[in-house]
Amino acid sequence: MNVSPQPNPPVPSPPTPLPLLPPVSFAKKPVPPDPSEPAVTPPPKDNPTTFVKKPKMAGKPRKREIPEGLWTKCPKCSTMLFDKELDENLKVCSQCQYHFPIGSRERIHSLVETCTFEEMDAQMTSVDALGFTGVATYTSKLEAYQRSTGLKDAVVTGICRIGEHRAALGVMDFGFLGGSMGSVVGEKLTRLIERATEKGLPLIIISTSGGARMYEGMFSLMQMAKTSAALAYHAKARLPYFSILTHPTTAGVMASYATLGDLILAEPGAMIGFAGPRVIKDTTQAELPPGFQTAEFLLERGLIDAIVPRNELKERLITYLGYVTAGRNCSSGLAKS
Ligand SMILES: [Zn+2]
Repeated sequence: MNVSPQPNPPVPSPPTPLPLLPPVSFAKKPVPPDPSEPAVTPPPKDNPTTFVKKPKMAGKPRKREIPEGLWTKCPKCSTMLFDKELDENLKVCSQCQYHFPIGSRERIHSLVETCTFEEMDAQMTSVDALGFTGVATYTSKLEAYQRSTGLKDAVVTGICRIGEHRAALGVMDFGFLGGSMGSVVGEKLTRLIERATEKGLPLIIISTSGGARMYEGMFSLMQMAKTSAALAYHAKARLPYFSILTHPTTAGVMASYATLGDLILAEPGAMIGFAGPRVIKDTTQAELPPGFQTAEFLLERGLIDAIVPRNELKERLITYLGYVTAGRNCSSGLAKS
């Protein structure tokens, strides 16, 4: 069977390229001016109306956070306290009366009359007599604490006026190496006590300390005897000494000048003792009573004379200074030095 030749199939022509679509643009097209109402100011041709994305604000992320340095949480009652109000209340919680730690400068400011504090031995600094080296050298620790606190050591001493009474005042600072008593603390306090004796002034020492400073070994322990001896001369001159114990007052300081006051006051809730409660519990193997080594516990047992809230301390001191100076004539030096 003959097959008639089929005509060649038509050769497909090459596909014609599709016309290129104009690029999709999401930019808003410029609105052509209405010819019937010509625009007063024709839009510039090279500045089509587009939405320009605003650059993001560089810097802080937009998180709803409480700014630091404005609020402080009370560790006892968890109330959020406005820092400004806390400062005005001398760092005492307005809800539960918790006493926050306070630096020596703030405390002096809260007690003495403005511009009456004449500081003594402000530049006295410790030396590293033992060449002590632990995790860090004693010298490097001293430098670090001097930078962080702005103090030279853990006590500030001077002569001041409280109300109408001149007095010798020493204030310890727990922020400087835990308020530890080294040779500078002992020497500054001894000089203060001797100045008070010489000028016939009442003496006030506000203590807060973890005890003798281990970096100075025996030199620290010697300060206990030195300060106590100076206080004996002050007492012999029949001059009053008020010791104020704040949280915490322990160990070598508690075993020397802190407990030698004619009147011993304490802040509410302050921990006061020689060794810590854990050491005592481990040593005696006895269960310690609740509230052991707090100011309230010691007041009940007669070790301290009164508990005075921080914001009442100045008025109380003025009252007590009035009692001890009453009946003395001016030549005793108590009313004026
Ligand atoms: Zn509180």
